[in-house]
Amino acid sequence: VALVSSGEPRPIRVGLLGLGNVGAALVELIGAQREAIRDRTGLDLVVTRVAVRSAAKARAVEVDPALLTTDASEVVTDPDIDIVVELIGGIEPARELTLAALNAGKPVVTGNKELVANHAVELFTAAEANGVDLLFEAAVAGAIPIMRPLRESLIGEPIARVMGIVNGTTNYILSAMSEDGASYADALAEAQSRGFAERDPTADVEGFDAAAKAAIIATIAFGQSVVAGDVYREGISSITASDIAAAERFDMVVKLLAITESTPDDSGETRINARVHPAMVPSDHPLASVRGSFNAVFIEGEALDDLMLYGRGAGGTPTASAVLGDLIDAAGNASRNTAAVFGTMERARLSSIDDVRSAFYLTLDLIDQAGVLAAVAEIFGRHQVSIRSMEQAAPASPDGGAHVVFITHATAESGLTAVLDELGRSEVVASVGTVMRVIGVD
Ligand code: NAP
Repeated sequence: VALVSSGEPRPIRVGLLGLGNVGAALVELIGAQREAIRDRTGLDLVVTRVAVRSAAKARAVEVDPALLTTDASEVVTDPDIDIVVELIGGIEPARELTLAALNAGKPVVTGNKELVANHAVELFTAAEANGVDLLFEAAVAGAIPIMRPLRESLIGEPIARVMGIVNGTTNYILSAMSEDGASYADALAEAQSRGFAERDPTADVEGFDAAAKAAIIATIAFGQSVVAGDVYREGISSITASDIAAAERFDMVVKLLAITESTPDDSGETRINARVHPAMVPSDHPLASVRGSFNAVFIEGEALDDLMLYGRGAGGTPTASAVLGDLIDAAGNASRNTAAVFGTMERARLSSIDDVRSAFYLTLDLIDQAGVLAAVAEIFGRHQVSIRSMEQAAPASPDGGAHVVFITHATAESGLTAVLDELGRSEVVASVGTVMRVIGVD
């Protein structure tokens, strides 16, 4: 069905599921931009139905009560709705509603990272079978256009690696620790009081949110299905002020990174790895300059070299901006009877975290005895892990032993694990402290 004919465009009727932070901002943005969008694209967007959980709730935006319903399933099958926007969040009922809309021949725009990170193939298959769009720019890094660049501009690019700061809460906390010398607990409390962290911060600080985004980035960057459960994950809750200070002495900053890369295995077959963990980033790396709640995605391609996209990763209005871009794209495609194509997507051939090569930062408390450093160096050497730099940092541990900080050269994780096992059992090591990967070091 052509949505745009010659003369006045027929309004494109949008069914919105969810009127929370993003949904309300989207209604506002469409209201403000309607004429400009019509002038520039010939598409006249109008929100004609809105599903919510509670009809009585006060709203951040004025909506005609006649448009509201508490039955979202009615909206997705309504023949008078042309496009569905899902901004409810979570897996169910969002998954069922999205599938029902696609199966009713309606394009769907969603900002739901959980849904896409766990059910992409099922959703892509339904979209393809029905010849309609399923777009989810807002699901990764909020306002930053990253899905469309990966899917369109960079579709011919041999991408080697994507590294993202895709969680604003953790970046805010780590920035506060680094700039104010705050402890993790104080930085978290400040983030909570300023609305940058939830009361239960687990999903952010333990890396679950970033892992969902890493899975989506990997899926789109490499065209193979990677789900949230495939992503290796470590959070930031054990990072200490002294780790941050040590990073500074090595001219680095600590960031929570979502990394996905494609590397050949021993037989030359390509493997995908996706992981989320804190990492030390050299201060001259573009990602080191991403402060506060901002996000950025850094792409390394064989032909394009390095590319970084930077912006607001969350917030109602910035996220609504990404949703609106998708909505205009989907409406334009529907008017031309076409849709974005993801192609057949197979399960990714994954590599294990054990095979990933990284340089490492690690701290040790050693007992107070002659020859302890030589004993430690011998353990590293036995597992072919070479030490790049070492410092004996103040303060000395309470029992009078030495607190020592190492940065290794790049090594397979399995080599480092063997070193840590042996250090843990060694008589000269009082305790093993923080272990953190370091990027940009060979
Ligand atoms: P939110 O503020 O919690 O809003 C959710 C909305 O969904 C509410 O209006 C709620 O209705 C409605 N809802 C819940 N269950 C429903 C049901 N069964 N049927 C109909 N409506 C239902 O969430 P949000 O922050 O706007 O986020 C929406 C989506 O965008 C999520 O997938 C989120 O991950 C994603 N996203 C958000 C951000 C951000 O910064 N907020 C950034 C990127 C992506 P009531 O209002 O009546 O309770």
